[in-house]
Amino acid sequence: MVKTIKDEQPRTYFDCAKCPAYCCSIYDRVQVTKRDINRLAKHFGVSYETARRRYTKQWQDERVLKRVKDVIFEETCMFLDQETRGCTIYHARPGVCREYPARSRCAYYDVLQFERRQQDDETVIPVVQITYHEVKKKTTTADGGATEKVWEWEPEKA
Ligand code: SF4
Ligand code: SF4
Repeated sequence: MVKTIKDEQPRTYFDCAKCPAYCCSIYDRVQVTKRDINRLAKHFGVSYETARRRYTKQWQDERVLKRVKDVIFEETCMFLDQETRGCTIYHARPGVCREYPARSRCAYYDVLQFERRQQDDETVIPVVQITYHEVKKKTTTADGGATEKVWEWEPEKA
C-alpha cells in the first residue's frame, strides 16, 4: 500500500523510542492544568486532591509534575520508566507532553544523532543542555519580506 504524507500529517524526523527522554528529564517543570490532574486521578483511580498532592507540586505560580533522581540525568519525571526510558502514563500524560516538540524535528534528537554519528557509537548518550532563543529572519515572500519567528538551538556539553 502506498503511503502518502499530507500537509496536515507532516513527517517527523525524530524517534522517541530511540531517545533517552531528554524532554522528560532536562525540563524541570512539566506544567499541569486541572484537566491534566483530573486525567491523572482517573488513570490511578484516586480523587483529584489525592492526584494533585501525590503527583504534582507547586513551583511559583505553576503546578508541575514531581521529579525523582535519574540514572542518566540529574533528575527526571516521576512517571518515566528509567529502564525503558518510556512514559509509564502515556495515555494519561499531561497536555504539554502530548504537544512536545510541536514541530517536525526535535533538537535533542538531532544532537543525539549527530553525536552518535560523530563518535560512530549508537550507544552514546550526550548529556546536553539546549538553549532556545528567538531570532528574526528576513524572508523573501510575495508580500515583500515579512519577518519570521524561528528558533535556534545551541548544544552545550554539560
Ligand atoms: S527529547 Fe525529543 S526525541 Fe527524545 S523523547 Fe523527547 S520528543 Fe522524543
Ligand atoms: S508524564 Fe510522561 S511524557 Fe510527560 S514528562 Fe513525564 S514521563 Fe515524560
